[in-house]
Amino acid sequence: MTFTRDFDETSRGMDELKIVLFVCNWGPHAALQTLQDQDRDIPHQVRMIRIPCTGRISKTLLFKAFERGADGVALIGCTPGTCRYGAGTYTAERNVEGARGILDLLGLGKDRLRLATFLPEEASPLLDFLNDFTDQVRGMGKSPVTPVPLKQPAHDGRRNTAEVLKAHDVYACQDCGKCSSACPMALSGRPYSPRAIANSIIAGSGNTPAVVNDVWSCLTCGICYDRCPSAVDFPAFIREMRCVQKASGKSGHEAHEGFFQSLMRAMTSPDLRTQHWKCLPEGIRTDQQSKTLFFGGCAPYFDEFFRRHLDVHTSDILADSLRLLNFFDVTPALLPGERCCGHDLLWSGDRENFLRLARLNVEAIEKMGIEEVVTACPECYRSFARDYPENGVPVNFRVTHIFDLAEKEIDKGAVGFEALDRSLTFQDPCRLSRMEGRADLPRKLIDRLRVKGFREMQDRGVSALCCGNCAWTGCDGYTKALQVKRLRQARATGSDLLVTACPKCQIHLRCAMEDPLLGKEIGMDLMDLTSVIARTIRWE
Ligand code: SF4
Ligand code: SF4
Ligand code: SF4
Repeated sequence: MTFTRDFDETSRGMDELKIVLFVCNWGPHAALQTLQDQDRDIPHQVRMIRIPCTGRISKTLLFKAFERGADGVALIGCTPGTCRYGAGTYTAERNVEGARGILDLLGLGKDRLRLATFLPEEASPLLDFLNDFTDQVRGMGKSPVTPVPLKQPAHDGRRNTAEVLKAHDVYACQDCGKCSSACPMALSGRPYSPRAIANSIIAGSGNTPAVVNDVWSCLTCGICYDRCPSAVDFPAFIREMRCVQKASGKSGHEAHEGFFQSLMRAMTSPDLRTQHWKCLPEGIRTDQQSKTLFFGGCAPYFDEFFRRHLDVHTSDILADSLRLLNFFDVTPALLPGERCCGHDLLWSGDRENFLRLARLNVEAIEKMGIEEVVTACPECYRSFARDYPENGVPVNFRVTHIFDLAEKEIDKGAVGFEALDRSLTFQDPCRLSRMEGRADLPRKLIDRLRVKGFREMQDRGVSALCCGNCAWTGCDGYTKALQVKRLRQARATGSDLLVTACPKCQIHLRCAMEDPLLGKEIGMDLMDLTSVIARTIRWE
């Protein structure tokens, strides 16, 4: 089920509240029917969507209602124990709890989303609920989320296919096959060839379902670019082809039903005041007058979204980064209402909304008089340092990866590390190691740690295997096979701690470890390098 229609603004005033009810077909629908038959006064702000079972309405679908302009959403199901499908109401409780957490971080307020259950004969209690909920949402006011058009505008400075082919030197391909023989998608068993995709698009077959599927399956990991003797920038070519395809209504599979793309689009609303800094642990020093800003990224949303499914705590990267900055006597400012950097929108073909986020971020940061932005996320780093300026959003401040800052500070001396009784291996994030050419940087830092040992995986540095997903597109059995392969490489080093440097590497690899058959064989502890440094560093 998708939820893509905007509210009809012609039949309702722009300022009218919009409340969506997802109503289970069984118990509560009968109650609602009774209200309609009795001509009872149902609040006119309510728009009902009939559903087969509350358990079918995922966190993503709940959130998409807000993305498309809802001010309040209620999931109305059957009283526990009466669900026709058994666990529907319990699943709904979990999904609503997760989505409420996201709404809270986003600054919308978790009470805009409610779950309620009714028996068929409970028409009056249902009406009371609808009136209460409408009053509650009215008290909270209109949602600050402004729905953006899902369809890309006709003229957004986008290149056409011929221009994209030319811009990335695709015609220079010598058909040597080095890209295909190095591509991790091909090596994970999928019939996949970057040069064949390029050749098909050159030959005018870019719109066939097979080629579209291939364009959206690329991990944009960049190994092919690294190996190509003609310097065909395939990841950049794919990124632009996705924009071209999206504009003509074609796109690939978005992981988690497109939840993260929805979240990012919602963040383009100028009036949004996100709250994800609210939960910082005690003892962290920040200073809003500082000329240095720490940009955290979306890690808190990942924690909230995956909390019940994966044991990931990517918010720790933010808290540990700030602790590390404080250790070096840097007391940074934080961006109130910080938004996503937009990396995944750009890399999943939505340049228009990426640009909205970029402009909002840069404008807000420059208003604070910031001279330097520090980030621990390789995707935020790349977006600010490279993709914003290259896409026409100039950045008038320095962009620094926290590893660079840490390495410089540690190099001054007087700093040591507490011993850590773990053997480490390292997963390179492609945006930092391969694309920015900084594979040396995390290794310099790892060399400084006092650990039991450090052993590299078979594929490492610029040749490292991707964690198996990028921009929340194309997650499937082949990407899972790639993750399993990577985790086997990690285990083969004999290490007991897999250190990463990107929140998403942690998420995707942890997800693969959930495999009920392979879990024991490929499972291992995961930690971000920033956290390892922050938790062991000390003054000598
Ligand atoms: S970017 Fe990575 S996944 Fe995509 S074609 Fe190149 S090597 Fe394969
Ligand atoms: S490595 Fe470069 S030149 Fe060789 S086939 Fe691939 S894209 Fe063409
Ligand atoms: S690997 Fe797991 S976490 Fe990553 S996109 Fe796929 S399902 Fe989601």
